[in-house]
Amino acid sequence: MRNQTVAFSKDSSNLFFHILTRCNLSCSHCYINREQHGDQTLPIDTIRDWLGIFSPKANQTNLVLLGGEPTLHPDLHLAVKEARRLQFKSITIDTNGYLFHDILEKITPDLLDFLSFSLDGATRNTNDAIRGKGCYDAVLSGIKKARERGFACSMIYTVSDKNIHELTQMPALVQKLDVDRFFIQVIGMRGESSTSSSQTPRALQVSKDSWLEIIPQVAEKIAAQGIIVTYPKVFLSNDEAFQCAGNVAKNYFVFPNGRVYQCPICEDFPLHSHEIHDNHLVAMPPINETDLFKLTIPEGCVMNKMIQPANLAYRADGRPRHKIACCMLKQELLP
Ligand code: SF4
Ligand code: SF4
Repeated sequence: MRNQTVAFSKDSSNLFFHILTRCNLSCSHCYINREQHGDQTLPIDTIRDWLGIFSPKANQTNLVLLGGEPTLHPDLHLAVKEARRLQFKSITIDTNGYLFHDILEKITPDLLDFLSFSLDGATRNTNDAIRGKGCYDAVLSGIKKARERGFACSMIYTVSDKNIHELTQMPALVQKLDVDRFFIQVIGMRGESSTSSSQTPRALQVSKDSWLEIIPQVAEKIAAQGIIVTYPKVFLSNDEAFQCAGNVAKNYFVFPNGRVYQCPICEDFPLHSHEIHDNHLVAMPPINETDLFKLTIPEGCVMNKMIQPANLAYRADGRPRHKIACCMLKQELLP
């Protein structure tokens, strides 16, 4: 098994394209912020045009189509076909499992690299308490249908204090469901997680000890079953160098109102580095996220310190106990 940190590269790009922000669920940790991201459903012609903006480097770009819930878009299948025509390096749809508009009937497995399902608990009770009643069953039946039709499936498990205790049950579940990839995410203090009065960010965030004790172990167990596992590094050891992806990689988070961010932690603020105008990517004037990427601080990620400082800890002399990695720095286990 190979266990490696995925280095940032200028030659590889990720395009996270939110084609709408509407959703049938209202997960307690939802990061969609309609005040900042708009509530439009992009017409298919606009989706085609915007994919075209990124098409000169399509063969180096991993495309993720997401929402809201992207399968609520009646023309999602046409967006997938256009992305394939433009030869994006990989095409993924992130879904909450409901698979609206018979999406599996309208595309074929060769058009899509992964259909990625979000599940936030190994049991119905835990998942549905976070994501909504009926969601657990929708995900399990959605994966079953997709696998029967030959689609490659992945799963995203967003870890918080509410569900970390069930992560150890996931190796058995993912094996039963026959998924090809498993992504562990960390709860982000954005959108609902940062505003809900009933759950403070500190209460939702997982401690460093729990993270380091549970995540690598579960990841190894799942990878040992032949499944590729990816999880964020979060904490850097003293000998690991910090890099901000905003300075050394090309990641674009595109929203229906035309905002384009390079750092997902900035998404609750009008700090986006670009906007799409008349089908062109236009750089925003200072101050925007790119001005923050340049700041060097002993805590590592500057946006983490500003937005979600609950995961920082300091020694008596004021030095940080650990550096926080870029949220896009991943550890990957290849069986
Ligand atoms: S987290 Fe995803 S599935 Fe849940 S409400 Fe938000 S957009 Fe919908
Ligand atoms: S998460 Fe932090 S380190 Fe990564 S791009 Fe954003 S500001 Fe930079």
